[in-house]
Amino acid sequence: MGASLDLAALRARTPVDAPVNLAATRQDGLGCHSGKETMQQAAQAAGMGETLDALKRDYPVGPHDQPQSMCPAFGSLRVGLRMRRTATILSGSACCVYGLTFTSHFYGARRTVGYVPFNSETLVTGKLFEDIRDAVHATADPALHDAVVVINLCVPTASGVPLRLLPREIDGVRIIGIDVPGFGVPTHAEAKDVLAGAMLKVARAEAEHGPVAAPRQPRDGRPTVALLGEMFPADPMQVGALLEPLGLSAGPVVPTREWRELYAALDCTAVAAIHPFYTASMREFEAAGRPAVASGPVGHDGTAAWLDAIGEACGVAPSAVAAAKNRFLPAIRGALAANPIRGRITVTGYEGSELLVARLLVESGAEVPYVGTACPRTAMSEVDRDWLEAKGCRVQFRASLEQDLAAVEEFGPDLAIGTTPVVQKAKERAIPALYFTNLISARPLMGAAGAGSLAQVINGAMAQRDRFDAMRSFFAGVGEGHAAGIWEDVPRKRAAVKRAGPEKPVGEMA
Ligand code: SF4
Repeated sequence: MGASLDLAALRARTPVDAPVNLAATRQDGLGCHSGKETMQQAAQAAGMGETLDALKRDYPVGPHDQPQSMCPAFGSLRVGLRMRRTATILSGSACCVYGLTFTSHFYGARRTVGYVPFNSETLVTGKLFEDIRDAVHATADPALHDAVVVINLCVPTASGVPLRLLPREIDGVRIIGIDVPGFGVPTHAEAKDVLAGAMLKVARAEAEHGPVAAPRQPRDGRPTVALLGEMFPADPMQVGALLEPLGLSAGPVVPTREWRELYAALDCTAVAAIHPFYTASMREFEAAGRPAVASGPVGHDGTAAWLDAIGEACGVAPSAVAAAKNRFLPAIRGALAANPIRGRITVTGYEGSELLVARLLVESGAEVPYVGTACPRTAMSEVDRDWLEAKGCRVQFRASLEQDLAAVEEFGPDLAIGTTPVVQKAKERAIPALYFTNLISARPLMGAAGAGSLAQVINGAMAQRDRFDAMRSFFAGVGEGHAAGIWEDVPRKRAAVKRAGPEKPVGEMA
C-alpha cells in the first residue's frame, strides 16, 4: 500500500458480486491460531459453505479433528511449484506466506512464489479480489505458462474471496483457483490432491472438447497404468518393469510435472491408487471411466496381489499375470530373505505411504505393532489395512501426535519411524529413530528394488541402541527437571515459590 490511502475512493469501488465477510477482517484473530470453529463460522458466513462441505466430503476427519502437521496449503503449493510452465500465487496473511515460501525454498523450489498482499481495507472493499485478478492477468503469459494457480489461504477463504469468479483462461493460460484453508483440509498430503484434482478436472473437460497436446515422450502404444501419489523416482521404473509382461506400461505420476501429462494420465487404462487418499483426483479418473486399483507392488504378497488386481482391471489374460508373477516374485522373495530386518518397529507419518512401508517391513521380518498415519481411511486403503491387521498390526488413521507417542511408549520398539516430534521423543528415551520423510520416503519401495532397500538404513539405526544407552547414562539428569535451562549458580530450592502439588517431570509424555 502507498503511504496515503484514499479510503473514500476505495469504498466507492464496486465490490465484486459475492459476499465479503466484514467481521472476518475486524481483528487480527483469524488464522490457525484463532481456532478452527471460528474460521469455519466466518467462512460459512462468507458464502463458502459449499466449498467447506466439498472439502469435508473429500477429506473426512475423525476419529479426532485434525492431525498435527504443517500448514496444509504447503501441499498444494509444492505441487504447483514442481510443475513446468506453471505459476503459483498465494493469497493469504503475510505471516502464512512467509512460512510457506520459506519452507518451499528450504525444499529447493527454485521458483518464484507469487503473492497478492491484503489488508483490512482491500478485504472489505473487494479490492483484494481485483488485485488477484490483476495479478493473474499480469502473470498469464502463454509464452511462459500453461497454467496459473491461485491458492486462497485461511483468511481469504474465511472471508469468502471468490476465486471461482476468476477467468477460466487468459490467452490460453488456464487459471486454477483453489481454496486450501487449514480449517477445511486436514493435511498437506491431501492438499496435494486438492490441486491435482482441480487440474485433472480442467484437463478432462479440455480432452472431452477436442484434441489436446500429446505427451512430451512419445508413447509406444501399450495401454498405461497411471500412478497416483508422489513416490521415489525409481519406483515408477520398477512399476513399468512389472507391467511390461502384462503388455502394459507405467503412465504418468499424478501430481504431474507438466500440464500435458494430465491428459496422458487420464488416457490410462486403470489408475493405481498408490496413495489411497487422492479422493478428488480419483473422482476425475472415475468420471473418465478409469478403474482404480488399491495398494502397490510392495514385497512378495503385495506385488502378487497388485499384479492380480491390475490384470483384472486392465483385462489381461490370467496366464500373462501368472507368468509375470513367476518372473518377479522369486526375485522379490530372494531380496527380502537376503536383507532381513529383525526387531520391533513403530511406523508413523503423514505422507500417505505409511501402510505400504509397514507392509514391506513386515515382509522383511520385522514386528510392526503400530502404524499411525495422518491420512484418512478410504476405500483404497482397506486392502493394506486388512493385510496389516491380519499380521497383528494396529492401524490408526488420522493419528494424532499423542497417539503416535503413546504407541512408542506402549510398544517400546527397537526403532521408531516417524515425524520430527516422534523421533525427538524416541531419542529422549534412547530408542533409535528415523525420520519418515527424509530417510524412508527417499528410498524405493516397489518391486525387487524396493524389497531390500530399507534393510540397510533400518538395521544400521537399530544397531545404534547401545550408543543411545551409553549417551543416556552419561548425560542422565542433564537438561531435565531442575537441571533444565542455563544457570550461573547451583540452583537452590525457594520455599516461597515452591508449588503446592507435585511437579510434572519435564519430558514426560502427555
Ligand atoms: S494458511 Fe496455514 S499457516 Fe496460515 S492460518 Fe491457515 S493453516 Fe495457519
